[in-house]
Amino acid sequence: MAPRSVQTAGPEETESLGRELAAELRDGDIVLVRGELGTGKTTLVRGAARALGVVEPITSPTFAIGNRYRGRGVAISHLDLYRLADLQHEEPDLLADYVGPGRIAFVEWPLDGEAELAGARVLITLSHRGGDRRDIVLEGRPPFGRTCEQAGGATR
Ligand code: ADP
Ligand code: MG
Repeated sequence: MAPRSVQTAGPEETESLGRELAAELRDGDIVLVRGELGTGKTTLVRGAARALGVVEPITSPTFAIGNRYRGRGVAISHLDLYRLADLQHEEPDLLADYVGPGRIAFVEWPLDGEAELAGARVLITLSHRGGDRRDIVLEGRPPFGRTCEQAGGATR
């Protein structure tokens, strides 16, 4: 996936970008979605999840770290790790039910160094540009992040 930088002027445009992104995703993919509160992470995931066949309302995960939906031929996971902080050390397999074969996972507030997320294929970064404008950068990552992780180097 070639890196792309886009500016959107409202939530509909961000959803639409999510729909375009969906066309490039496949079973097993993990998409990391970064950006301050209110930049449109969930809005973008909503557009992508719709295009992948989710018909239920797509809302921010509240009680669990993630929501799971049925898409067209693939399950869709939507995680928000904002409150997770150090919980990962207590439950190392916390993400296992959300990522992997048969699923496409979108992860807001991904944790640095989280092993389960090392194979993420797409990184999206959103930022505020005043009013309803947002800068959105989409970039592909090498499969399984082999350059860093397997060399035992820094995470990101
Ligand atoms: P996040 O998940 O990053 O906290 P949300 O997607 O939940 O953000 O909320 C983004 C809010 O900003 C929504 O209320 C949405 O309507 C509004 N908004 C305004 N302009 C945009 C835009 N260009 N893209 C996405 N959301 C926007
Ligand atoms: Mg959100």
